[in-house]
Order: sequence, then C-alpha cells, then structure tokens
Amino acid sequence: MTPFPSQRMQGIEKTLIRQINDRADASCINLGLGELAFPTPLAILERLAAEVKSWPLGYTPNAGLPELRQLIAQRTGPGVTAEQVCVTIGAEEALFALIMVLVSPGDEVLVPDPGFPSYPTLVRMAGGRPVGYALSPARHFALDLEEIGRRMTPRTRLLVLNSPNNPTGAVYSGEDMKDLAVLCRRQELTVLADEVYREIMYEGRAESLAPFYERTIVVNSLSKMYSMTGWRLGWCVGPPEIIRTVIIFNQLAISCPPAICQRAALLALQGVGDREKAAYLEELRRRRNLAAQCLDRYAGLKCEKPSGTFYLFADISAELSPSRTSWDVALELIAREKVVAIPGLAFGRAAENFLRLSFAATPENIEEGIRRIGRFFGKA
Ligand code: PMP
Repeated sequence: MTPFPSQRMQGIEKTLIRQINDRADASCINLGLGELAFPTPLAILERLAAEVKSWPLGYTPNAGLPELRQLIAQRTGPGVTAEQVCVTIGAEEALFALIMVLVSPGDEVLVPDPGFPSYPTLVRMAGGRPVGYALSPARHFALDLEEIGRRMTPRTRLLVLNSPNNPTGAVYSGEDMKDLAVLCRRQELTVLADEVYREIMYEGRAESLAPFYERTIVVNSLSKMYSMTGWRLGWCVGPPEIIRTVIIFNQLAISCPPAICQRAALLALQGVGDREKAAYLEELRRRRNLAAQCLDRYAGLKCEKPSGTFYLFADISAELSPSRTSWDVALELIAREKVVAIPGLAFGRAAENFLRLSFAATPENIEEGIRRIGRFFGKA
C-alpha cells in the first residue's frame, strides 16, 4: 500500500490552539480563540448590499484586483508599487505561500518563541527546520538581537517577525527595527513580517520593519483590523521577484481570493468602516483594562498590560510543577470550570509558564471566565 499520509504531512497536527478549542463545547466561556466578537462593520455591509449587483464576480487576476493591489501598495508606504502586492486568502495563506516559495528542504527558519504556532508547522511542511529565537519573560518579551544573532547559521534562510506579538502582546520599537535591519542585511536574510495586529494598538504606534529593510515581506489581513475573520482576505507585500513567485503559487493553490471579499476589502481599505473600527478599538481598550483588573482581583496572576493585540499573557508559574504543565492546566480548566484558555506550550518552549487569555470576548465572559480561573487556582 502507498504510505499515507505523504511524507510532507507526517507528524503534522492541528496547532495546540485548535486542539484545545476542539475540546470545548458551547457551554464553555471561550477566552481562547483569537477572534473579535464584533460584527463586520455595518457601513461595509450596507455599501456591499447596495453595489453588489453591479460588480463582475468572476475570477479576478491571480494576484487580486488591480485597484485593490494599488490601494494596499499605497497604504504600505511611499514608493511601494502594485506589482509588489499579492492578495491572499487571509494572512494564513500568505504565510503558507511565502514559506513554500522561500524555504527549501534543510533550510533553517528563525521563528519567535513564544510565537504563533503556524510558523514552525508551515516550515516543517516545506521540509525546513524551524529554529526558535527566545523572547524572554525576564525581558518583557522584547526582541533580543543577541539571541537572534546566536541562532543564525549559514543555513538560515528566513526570519519570521511578529509585532505586535501573538501571544505576548509585546511591540518592538523603531530602534529594534533599525538594529534588526543591520543584523539581517549582514546575512542577506529575508524577513517575513506578520503585521496582522499592527492596527490593534492602545498606546503609541507599532513600527514596521519594511521602511528599514528592503528584504522585508509584510503580511497583513482584514481579520483583526476590521473584525472580518470569516471574509478570509489578506495580502503580502514584498520585493517584486518574490511576489512574482507567490502569484504563481496563488494561481495553482487558489486561482484567486473570492471576488466579493476583494470588493469588501476595497471598501474597508477606502475607509468605509473606519468609524466602527475606531469604536471597536475603544471597546477593546476597555476590555483590556477590565481583563487586567479581573486577573489581579480574582486570580492574583501577573501579566504585562499589552500595548497591542487582544491577549493577556498570564504568568501561572506558581501553579505549575513537573507533573502539571500549562497544557494540563488548560485541560483541567475546560473540564472543571468550562473556561477555554490557551496553554503557553502551544506557542513554544519559552512560554511554558503562561496562559493566553483573549479579551476579545464580551465583558461578561471576561469577568466570569477570569473569576472561574481564580476559583480554579484556589484564589476565590
Ligand atoms: N498571524 C497571526 C500572528 C495570527 O494570530 C493569525 C490569526 N490568529 C494569523 C496570522 C492568521 O490570520 P488570518 O485570519 O488573516 O488568516
């Protein structure tokens, strides 16, 4: 019999984030999923309803609608052109396409630890070797250039950067970006900069690496920015020679992102839903403050108040032991308290002592969920 699955898929499992969520049922309070509970901005839906009959909705070019590529290029920065843009099925397909295009078997890819678990999994699917660069809790999960330098070898092909960071909420400074550019230029390293949380900021501004470093490919999407996860609309922007190959990949993998979603993206990026987007951000800021207060009051757990993203990364080291990992805690939380939280282990080794709590949930669920976590740890 032919071996199944293919070598490429052997040992590839759903990420631990999904595995935890799959164990939850509708009666659980979900502080696990990285999804805003807000609806698609109504202004976008209304314009869409009014205009949809006049739109051609057949295949679009493989790289996306020319006017959408143009708009994304303009938003990305001065001098960026439409040929540097490829529209994708969410940021996730952009990550997949880029890693397939850039990583050969045996290549090493530097990925953040803790970090979004798709990165190392996709690298393995491409036959590459993910190498974690640690973001240490002792340094508030800041970018550690010495650590990155130590992990670089002649086989390093790509570095994945995620700021604001999922799961830690850390945001890297302009100085960090400048220094990282110097380090990467020395090795002619390509950088994949995942910026899906760049507009979910409560204080200050999240810098992009792109203006500092020419071999940066920026990935972004409507998912978090406009609370439009289900529209599955994202993009990548980078050097034309890389994007040309991503477009070929797009043709073979998806033909094109759905035309109607691209039209919705045009409306979103023209600013049609911006009033609601701003209101969502204000509401998220209130929920962040509420979640941090609840964590302190009900559970006595420490966490950094994140200046970006919608995650609290709570330190549960005092509750763990060699026979009780963050994974065990997350399973027990579902079984005993019906609360879904993501174990640090899902994001890498450096995050083992943590639990990720999403404050994208409703205020009632945030408060009740954290109250139950406190009770679970014997604090209430
Ligand atoms: N990157 C990061 C860091 C994420 O957290 C997510 C979604 N949780 C994605 C990419 C994928 O987003 P999308 O919905 O645009 O595919």
